[in-house]
Amino acid sequence: MIIILEMSLNKGERLFTPGPVELPQRIREVLSRQIIHHRTAEFTEAFMETRDLFKKLVDSPSDNFVFFSSSGTGAMESAILNFFKEGDEVIAVVGGKFGERWRDLARTWGLKVIELELEWGRSVDPESVEKLINHHPEVKGVLVQMSESSTGAYHDVYAIGEITSRRDILLVVDAITALGVYSLKPQSAGIDVLVGGSQKAFMIPPGLSMVWFSDKAYSVGSFRGYYFNIKEELKKQKEGQTAFTPAIQLILALRESLKMLLEEGMERVEERYRTISKAMARSLSEGGIKIFPENPSISLTACLPPEGVSADEIRKRLLSMGIRVAGGQGPLKGKIFRISHMGVDPLDLSLLLSALEVSLGDLGVNIQKGQMAGLFMEEVGSKSGIN
Ligand SMILES: *Cc1c(COP(=O)(O)O)cnc(C)c1O
Repeated sequence: MIIILEMSLNKGERLFTPGPVELPQRIREVLSRQIIHHRTAEFTEAFMETRDLFKKLVDSPSDNFVFFSSSGTGAMESAILNFFKEGDEVIAVVGGKFGERWRDLARTWGLKVIELELEWGRSVDPESVEKLINHHPEVKGVLVQMSESSTGAYHDVYAIGEITSRRDILLVVDAITALGVYSLKPQSAGIDVLVGGSQKAFMIPPGLSMVWFSDKAYSVGSFRGYYFNIKEELKKQKEGQTAFTPAIQLILALRESLKMLLEEGMERVEERYRTISKAMARSLSEGGIKIFPENPSISLTACLPPEGVSADEIRKRLLSMGIRVAGGQGPLKGKIFRISHMGVDPLDLSLLLSALEVSLGDLGVNIQKGQMAGLFMEEVGSKSGIN
């Protein structure tokens, strides 16, 4: 069976992981072109167009954003470096691996971190953020994920934004699996620093990150760092250049990705992800699979396998059929598996669900073949994918 599947698909292993995600055809075409030099009018023009498109994506007239040649974590580090100083007190919402990353990055650069610890899978209660702020009047920032990819949880950054925007506190949001999925307008959401990454919702290879920031953030900036100096970088990027050699091909790929997202329209993109997310939850429940987080992000589905079935066994079986999903991290290792919706055509998700039915059946779960995949197809109906 394995050989037959590999031969018939002829696509290699299929990725349903929350980063990297598979590259749409339009992106692959851009990446296959000959490279251009970055100190040219041609690059500047492409770069400025990319900036214009990004402005539309975040629906902000402001030029306050930069692209870095780094994975998402680089942009997270730049946020800590540029907008805070040693000794600054910040609240970090820690309910997963990426919340831990905020905490650890902040500590690395000498910030005093107050942890708002959550049980993994929980979403933060905005009231608890407000209480903590009231107890710590010196707090300069709140660090949070919009979509905590390690648990699949959504954090209500809008509600936190209402709290922080009334105070001299920066709301710093890791939106690496949210920007490009949600129709997110940081300015009206009261977000001060927004971080994005390339290999998730933008559906391009890893190596590019983005930082958008408010005037409020800029006015208190410390602008530490050399490679990650936002002030220096902004000066150059507003002119269509970068301080250092940019990831040229990835900028061109980002331009194409932004075009794709804007052609569909961010409201519709979000609607598509919402439909998929709901359809996945309903279909999976037919196979006794529970959704792990209490309030799921629409970017991915984090699944708890049926009683007595190992998440890693399911993953292994899916992989034998050429389908890669992600496992759990940290305390969730072996306990959950995660399916990305980012960069995934809904048709392919029904394929995944069919393979999952086979895997569960092999592992002794009483499941009717076609049940999950059929329901999923019914739910998403004729809504088209991204390719
Ligand atoms: C993937 C991810 C990161 C880390 O990004 P890298 O590109 O691996 O550095 C940070 N935060 C979230 C929410 C992510 O999903």
